[in-house]
Amino acid sequence: MNQFRFSRRPDIGDKVRVSFEFFPPKNDEMEARLWDTVTRLEPLKPKFVSVTYGAGGSTRERTARTVKRILNETTMTPAAHMTCVDAARHEVDAVIREFADMGVKRFVALRGDPAEGVGAAYRPHPEGYANGAELVDALKGAGDFDISVSAYPEKHPESPDFATDFDMLKRKADNGATRAITQFFFDNDLYERYVERARRAGIYIPIVPGILPVHNFTQVANFSARCGALVPAWLAERFDGLQNDPQTHALVASAVAAEQVLDLVERGVGDFHFYTMNRADLVFAICHMIGIRSHEVEAAGSAAA
Ligand code: FAD
Repeated sequence: MNQFRFSRRPDIGDKVRVSFEFFPPKNDEMEARLWDTVTRLEPLKPKFVSVTYGAGGSTRERTARTVKRILNETTMTPAAHMTCVDAARHEVDAVIREFADMGVKRFVALRGDPAEGVGAAYRPHPEGYANGAELVDALKGAGDFDISVSAYPEKHPESPDFATDFDMLKRKADNGATRAITQFFFDNDLYERYVERARRAGIYIPIVPGILPVHNFTQVANFSARCGALVPAWLAERFDGLQNDPQTHALVASAVAAEQVLDLVERGVGDFHFYTMNRADLVFAICHMIGIRSHEVEAAGSAAA
């Protein structure tokens, strides 16, 4: 057993870059929680922070408001998620212009899920962009943006096979995507194999792993089943019996995520995207363990020394 696996390795923090994903808050209470999270994570100097976009543009205004606040009130660079669901091209183009006028330079371009939810049959809007690749093309035509797209190490649930998925990812890369961010996964071998296959398929953009800290194992297991992500037996075993023990659950979750990230670092991965679920603690702890620290923490540490 390597008991030093979780200890801070000073060299790692310099090599690792992180980005954080938030969702737009629905009410004042959630807004307050998001801004606590933003304030806590900002000193970690993420490369960018992204704000999701609800099905069918349902969060359009809230996404825009959140992105604007990040632009105006923080030092962080926001990336606006956009989807094609239930919108004609001219409507999507108007949203792109709205964000661009605000000063947004980064986007996460997605087809999106049907408004009825994950698993319902997807029907493109007759006058809309049909998929992520067409949206990337539209964004590229609208400005010189940094564009992230999605990738699925375990295959998109609607996709008949990996070849279809790689065709789509290649189209997105060829149309100008800067990087892909993966759906969350818990088995690093799957990710590594996926990246190797993508390279063999002629896809050379960075494929950044999306890391989901397990705030609530039961919820994660349910969501994983819907979006086709495997929950390995060892993971279920680790959280077994912790449903009513939030403190131990959080400790285990931070160990699990740190182990996953450190293993990926050892495999040569340098960029990570964290699905924060608008909560700071686990992400902050994991970043701390991989050597990403705020200047405030470093300064306090040296003053105490
Ligand atoms: P695409 O890239 O267009 O397609 C993905 C794959 O699905 C393709 O490879 C293709 O094989 C398959 N596929 C697509 N359409 C069909 C079809 N009609 N028939 C057969 N196969 C098909 N959703 C949101 O609503 N808002 C968000 O903010 C959001 N953010 C996300 C961020 C990340 C990093 C990721 C990984 C996902 C996000 N999603 C979000 C979820 C995403 O919208 C869904 O997974 C959606 O089902 C597919 O969108 P996409 O952009 O991946 O699709």
